[in-house]
Amino acid sequence: MDINGRELSKKIKNEIKDEVDKLDKKPGLAVVLVGENPASKVYVRHKEKACQKVGYFSKKIVLQDNTSEEELLTLIDELNNDNLIHGILVQLPLPKHIDSDKVISSINPNKDVDGFHPLNMGKLMIGQKTIISCTPKGIIELIKSTKIDMNGKNAVVIGRSNIVGKPIALLLLQNNATVTMCHSRTKNLKKHCLDADIIVAAVGIPNFVKEDMVKKDCVIIDVGINRLDDGTLAGDVDYKTVHDKVSFITPVPGGVGPMTIASLMRNTLECYKIIEGIE
Ligand code: NDP
Repeated sequence: MDINGRELSKKIKNEIKDEVDKLDKKPGLAVVLVGENPASKVYVRHKEKACQKVGYFSKKIVLQDNTSEEELLTLIDELNNDNLIHGILVQLPLPKHIDSDKVISSINPNKDVDGFHPLNMGKLMIGQKTIISCTPKGIIELIKSTKIDMNGKNAVVIGRSNIVGKPIALLLLQNNATVTMCHSRTKNLKKHCLDADIIVAAVGIPNFVKEDMVKKDCVIIDVGINRLDDGTLAGDVDYKTVHDKVSFITPVPGGVGPMTIASLMRNTLECYKIIEGIE
């Protein structure tokens, strides 16, 4: 059965809109795009559209590919001090001459809607309340929507990136799953996967997880967004063959992607409340 990320995301955005309609001052999100990466442009457009839907003030700043690190840091400093802006998102990847870690660390942690700042990442690690990065936050909502009990379940995360793999592993752990993290050096990945009640695939290789790698009735979260030569999108999971074997699976598109955006909207509201001293 599909887990419908589009529906869930719509519901969340409607709830946010209802809350925002009652506010005198609108939450403001700044999205910074450096360069011409086509995928990044699409993501930024989706984020802007979502802001309009929920009633946020959104500010898109597009900088040229040759923008210097110093110029970008100056811009972030301005946004950190802009009282109309409650969330700052720098679309990754950045051009190679810019140090992403330095840029992320320069964002006010209370405006860090992506949850990538080391302080927020560290708080997640030690289980403190924090701003949780959008994709993992959305994934947990998707799993919860299936009503399966994560307690003691075997969860396998394929991929160990800072933006998906590591934080989702921590969140699954917080939800009492027994978590195994797999990556490109993992030996016998198939064995780990066959043991899993929940698989989160964040590999970046189209149709990587095949039917013979998954246990019957397992829950599959497919994070992958891979553009194929014919222009279509494919996930990291071979949806066609896996779908009938498992109990729940997120489609691509229409699964994790929309929930990432919904979580961004939630995080912006959380940052707004912190900055405006509402909570
Ligand atoms: P990264 O490229 O940063 O990480 C990929 C991970 O997969 C690495 O940890 C790598 O291992 C692992 N890996 C690569 N090959 C294998 C293999 N053969 N076996 C096991 N593990 C392997 O990717 P991201 O985490 O940034 O993204 C993953 C996918 O999710 C991409 O398709 C991306 O587009 C998509 N994505 C989707 C989002 C959404 O909103 N839906 C948001 C973010 C990403 P190692 O560390 O050893 O190299």
